[in-house]
Amino acid sequence: MNRLIVGNWKMNGLGAALGEAQGVAAGLGGVVARVGICPPATLLERMSRALSGTPLAVGGQDCRAEASGAFTGDVSAEMLADAGATLVILGHSERRAGFGETDALVAAKTEAALRAGLEPIICVGETLAEREAGRAISIVTGQVRGSLPKSLADRPFAVAYEPVWAIGTGLTPTTEQIAEIHAAIREALVGLLGPAGGRAPILYGGSVKPGNAAEILSTAEVGGALVGGASLSAADFLGIIAGA
Ligand code: PEP
Repeated sequence: MNRLIVGNWKMNGLGAALGEAQGVAAGLGGVVARVGICPPATLLERMSRALSGTPLAVGGQDCRAEASGAFTGDVSAEMLADAGATLVILGHSERRAGFGETDALVAAKTEAALRAGLEPIICVGETLAEREAGRAISIVTGQVRGSLPKSLADRPFAVAYEPVWAIGTGLTPTTEQIAEIHAAIREALVGLLGPAGGRAPILYGGSVKPGNAAEILSTAEVGGALVGGASLSAADFLGIIAGA
């Protein structure tokens, strides 16, 4: 299966940053990986128009589980799709930690993404304290079982393994540690979803840079990458994509 490389711009990017996305699109000739950028919601529609006719997909960074209603400030999966998104990141650790998102809420948001025809990228990952306590595998597989509804079985989706301690820190797990967790996620996915769980890409995320991308992307069961900071620069993001 082709790898999936997705940039998460987080709360970064004004209109002037659209040029970076266009720069990425212009550099995708010959790239077999599927590539996407998830900008802030304010840029989604403009970015999807600017990238129309290119292979670069756009996505949201979160959605509300409900389709519409009195939820001031929130954005539904249907609204993301209406703005041109085909992907949505769900359950990012910044939302789990900063907004109290539970596995059950992430599962409800995943159902919403499927309802709107979006491909969800569901994030899981342990904290440093959990890893040091020897609980990384049980935490991550527990998040997989709690955050992924059974309805994913016949739909495109991805899981992103993002150790919380590796996000934005410049720290990365060893490739052995990545392979160990990805194998455990694969086993949990197959147990949960059957054969479909064997096909979904498992992305790695956390301080992926041009200098470490090729090694990480060639690790067993790594089906792509979720990239934060380095996806804000077309040159850096293309350097990562080149490793796929
Ligand atoms: C992320 O937040 O999803 C992420 C992977 O960030 P960074 O690449 O900056 O560590």
